[in-house]
Amino acid sequence: MRLTNLPSEFQKALPILEKIKSAGYEAYFVGGSVRDALLHRPIHDVDIASSSYPQETKAIFERTVDIGIEHGTVLVLEQGSEYEVTTFRTEDVYVDYRRPSSVNFVRSLEEDLKRRDFTVNAFALDERAQIIDKFNGLEDLDNKLLRAVGKAEERFNEDALRIMRGLRFAASLDFDIEDATFQAMMTHAPLLEKISIERSFIEFDKLLTAPHWKKGVKAFKDSRAYCYLPGLEESQDKWDEFTAAYSDDFVFSSSEQAWAALLIALDVPAVKPFLKKWKTSAQFQKIVDALVSLYRFRQSEQLGLRQLYQYGRETIEVIEELRQAQGLAVDFEKIAELDQSLLIHDKHDIVVNGGMLMSELGIKPGPELGKILSQVEWAIVDGKLANKKETIFDFIANLDSK
Ligand code: ATP
Ligand code: MG
Repeated sequence: MRLTNLPSEFQKALPILEKIKSAGYEAYFVGGSVRDALLHRPIHDVDIASSSYPQETKAIFERTVDIGIEHGTVLVLEQGSEYEVTTFRTEDVYVDYRRPSSVNFVRSLEEDLKRRDFTVNAFALDERAQIIDKFNGLEDLDNKLLRAVGKAEERFNEDALRIMRGLRFAASLDFDIEDATFQAMMTHAPLLEKISIERSFIEFDKLLTAPHWKKGVKAFKDSRAYCYLPGLEESQDKWDEFTAAYSDDFVFSSSEQAWAALLIALDVPAVKPFLKKWKTSAQFQKIVDALVSLYRFRQSEQLGLRQLYQYGRETIEVIEELRQAQGLAVDFEKIAELDQSLLIHDKHDIVVNGGMLMSELGIKPGPELGKILSQVEWAIVDGKLANKKETIFDFIANLDSK
């Protein structure tokens, strides 16, 4: 089969294939970009597979970067873009289900395609726009089916991350998982405990933020993959509620929002320790923690100036979006009004600071100073005190505690 309209991303990258070919090697577009072109989806990352070994690839191009030579990958800088050119290789042999112990470079495209995870990820596209489809991926694509290349059990046994990848492709492509592939996912799910949590996080995060996340979550639940992921071991009864809580067409607008929604649904009492187990960044933990506590606050309270100040408008809107998708009461106008009537948005917006209180009012450094500043801050936030030097000094002069 030929692609009738070669997408511009491939056209732009054609000179790379041609250069490799004129040096006497084979070269093809491979991976997700070919799948996405066939599905008429936007293309990102045009990846190239070649029979040239890394050193040979480097000799062909003027500008290259060694980004993963040991895996056969050279980054080629051409046409104002970057392209990963990876040497054909066979299935990696894994040690403890984690790291490939060795990589075998080969000269055969078919060997390279065999090691790929799913039939729809195992196409190659040549310079004449011809699709090479060794595993009936085109038929699976038509049927919207995700099927492992070769024997599913072997493939998940080799690399259990493929289970998470499969579940996320179901969510991003809106594909069903073919029966034997799904059976093998279920039986090999315990191997997920051996996969690095950072890699599982990336896939699960992509699943949650995908357009068809509900389909992904259902497959995730049915596969019992959650039993082998941190903090989710006992979550069996929560997944249906999680998906049912949101309107059908709702898609999370960020990772932070998606994870907050997940932790809300799971009723996780301590958000940061949970996310720490997934080895997420401190910044991510902080944002999700704030989102979850704001959501919980909103279950029984109205928003006021203090919440606007504490959480900021953006965070509040992220939670209101969740509430809206749950059919709960929201008032975006009120949020805008509250935000506009806030006299300060940050401590540093206050026109006086500790130094001024010490030098101009003779207040001694120490806990008392902090207390006074905090009273000033909240009085301004509450709209009871103008953010003006004299007014603030008057306010301090009248404070009982002073
Ligand atoms: P995305 O659109 O999310 O980038 P992708 O299919 O391009 O999806 P990548 O992680 O970029 O996924 O990998 C590129 C290609 O490499 C895949 O299409 C697949 O052929 C192969 N691949 C990636 N990870 C694995 C794996 N764990 N096992 C087997 N093949 C893999
Ligand atoms: Mg990709």
